[in-house]
Amino acid sequence: MHDDIQRVVISERAIKERVAEMAAEIAEVYGRCDAGVTIVTVLAGSLIFLSDLIRLLPIKMRVGLVEVSSYAGRTTESQGVRLEHASLPNLRNRNVLIVDDIIDSGRTLRVVQQGVRSLTPRSIQTAVLLRKAGRAPLDVPVDYVGFDVEDVFVVGYGLDYDGFYRNLRYIATLKPELYHAEA
Ligand code: 5GP
Ligand code: MG
Repeated sequence: MHDDIQRVVISERAIKERVAEMAAEIAEVYGRCDAGVTIVTVLAGSLIFLSDLIRLLPIKMRVGLVEVSSYAGRTTESQGVRLEHASLPNLRNRNVLIVDDIIDSGRTLRVVQQGVRSLTPRSIQTAVLLRKAGRAPLDVPVDYVGFDVEDVFVVGYGLDYDGFYRNLRYIATLKPELYHAEA
């Protein structure tokens, strides 16, 4: 697996330090809310980030899961993805924190934010581990960002290529010859 890596973009140690900083910031905000926080996380890329993050949050919380799928035949940016499946506690009047691995075009988080908003929570914030430089659109607000990364395809720490590499403990680029010709 490690032989497939071209370059480490964010080290295990840097991730650990930054996730702890984000957790401190988030705990400070939601620690003040009696009702705690309901985290809504986007499967499957954010699983590793989520599990490290929530174990550093000494506050009352629930976790809900959503999945977003792409579908063909639509060309506009806000379409083309939909909230496919959800296992959610009641969000009405809750303080919701959406957690995702990476924001690139923002299409995924736009759909998740709209879906959550339609369930009339008290508040919505969004946390992402990675943001692709210069790509995140203004209508998709993100409150906590782990790292801004250059616009290259990365894997590891939950992020996959063709389902693989989620278990890498760092974030990295793959050797170019590994990408399928058809991908
Ligand atoms: P967006 O909808 O913001 O364009 O893209 C978000 C989704 O695309 C992410 O949740 C992730 O699943 C996928 N994605 C975007 N950039 C990357 C990347 O560099 N590496 C991987 N593995 N997935 C990415
Ligand atoms: Mg994702």
